[in-house]
Amino acid sequence: MFSHLPLYAGDPILSLQQAYLAEPRADKVNLGIGAYQDENGAIPTLRSVAAVRPVLAADLGPTPYQPIAGSKQYRDLVTELVLGSDRYRKVGERTVAIQSLGGSGALRVGCDLLKRYFPDSQVFISAPSWPNHQAIFEAAGFKVGSYRYFDATTNGVDFDGMLADLQAMPARSIVILHPACHNPTGADLTRDQWDAVIKVIAGRNLLPFLDMAYQGFAEGIDEDGYAVHAMVDAGISLLLSVSFSKTFSLYGERCGALVGVSADADEAKRLLSQMEMSIRANYSSPPTFGGKIIARVLADAALRQDWMDEVGEMRTRMLRMRDRLHAGMKARAPSLNVDYLLSQRGMFSYTGLSAAQVERLRVEHGIYAVNSGRICVSGLRDDNVDRVAAAFAEVMH
Ligand code: PMP
Repeated sequence: MFSHLPLYAGDPILSLQQAYLAEPRADKVNLGIGAYQDENGAIPTLRSVAAVRPVLAADLGPTPYQPIAGSKQYRDLVTELVLGSDRYRKVGERTVAIQSLGGSGALRVGCDLLKRYFPDSQVFISAPSWPNHQAIFEAAGFKVGSYRYFDATTNGVDFDGMLADLQAMPARSIVILHPACHNPTGADLTRDQWDAVIKVIAGRNLLPFLDMAYQGFAEGIDEDGYAVHAMVDAGISLLLSVSFSKTFSLYGERCGALVGVSADADEAKRLLSQMEMSIRANYSSPPTFGGKIIARVLADAALRQDWMDEVGEMRTRMLRMRDRLHAGMKARAPSLNVDYLLSQRGMFSYTGLSAAQVERLRVEHGIYAVNSGRICVSGLRDDNVDRVAAAFAEVMH
C-alpha cells in the first residue's frame, strides 16, 4: 500500500544536531542548533518557569478540553504583551488571538485561513528565510515567492532591493516579515526602514504576516515590537504569529499565539471565528500546561519582571559573545571585515562562511554550523569562543 512513498529527507538542521551528538571530540562546539543554550551549553529552565511549574503541577486536577481558541487569560495576556498595554487598550476590541502550538502552529492556522479567503494571493518570504515558512505555506496550497533581503556583499539588508520588490507585488499579496532577530541572517531593519516598508504595505494594499519568535533577543521586549506597533498605529490590518519556545525556553510545551488586528470589532469577531474553524479541523484545541505556565508568569508583576530580566540576560550574553567572536577574529586576521557580526541581532548570524568552510570547521575543528554559514550565537561560551574565533579566522582568511 505504501510502496510508492518516497523517503522524506528530514530537516537538515535537525540532522546536523544528530551529527553533533554523535561527534566524539570532547571540545566539540554546537553552533547549528536552533535553541538558546546558556553559558554551560545547556537549554536553561528559566527562574520564573521553575517558580510556577511545580505549583501548577501540584494542583493540576483533571484536564478537560480547552476552548478551541485556548485559554482566554493566556490570549489576553499575550496580546497585551505583544502590543504593549496602551495600544492594547486602544485596539483591543478589534484585535483577536488564539493560543497556538508554538509559532509553527500559529503560522499554519493563519495560512489555512488565508488560503480559504485569499485563494488567489501569492505569499512572499524574505530571501533567505526560516525554511519552514516556505514549507508551511506550500503545505496549505500557496505559491511561495521571495523578496530580496540579504546582501551577501555587506552581510546586511539589501533594503533598496526589498523595497523595490514590495512595490512590485500585486495588491493583497501576503508578505511574511520578521519584526526582529531575522532567522537565519540576524540582519534586521532599522526603525526608519520599517517606516518606509509600512508606507509601501499601506500604499500597495499588502497583507503583512509578521512572525515574531525572538521578542526581546535583539534590543528589548518593547523595542523588538516596533514593527508590529508601528503597523498597528498606521491602521494596517495584519496577522502576527508569536512563539515562546525561545523566550520562555519552553520548546516541547509548544506555546505560541496567532494574533489578528482587523478594522473593527465586527470584523474581528469573524476573523476569530475563522481562526477557530482552522483549529477545529486541524487539532481541535490546544494543550493546557505550557500555556498555564506562561499565563501565571505574565499575570504576576514580580514573576513577569523576573522573566523580562531573564530575557535581558540571554540577550546581553549573546551580545557579549558577538563582541568576543568579533574581537577574536580581528586579533587573528585584522584584514577581515567582520563588523557585521556586531550589528546583526538575535540568536543567529550569517557569517559569510561558505559551505566548504563550514565543512572544514566540522572536520578539522569539531565546530558544527549550518551549511549556509548560519551560526547560533548562543552556542558560543566564554570557554569556547576564542577557539571558535581562531578556527573561523583560519578558514576564512
Ligand atoms: N518562526 C521563526 C522565524 C523561527 O525561527 C521559529 C523557530 N525556529 C518559529 C517560527 C517556530 O517556532 P516554534 O518552535 O515555536 O514552532
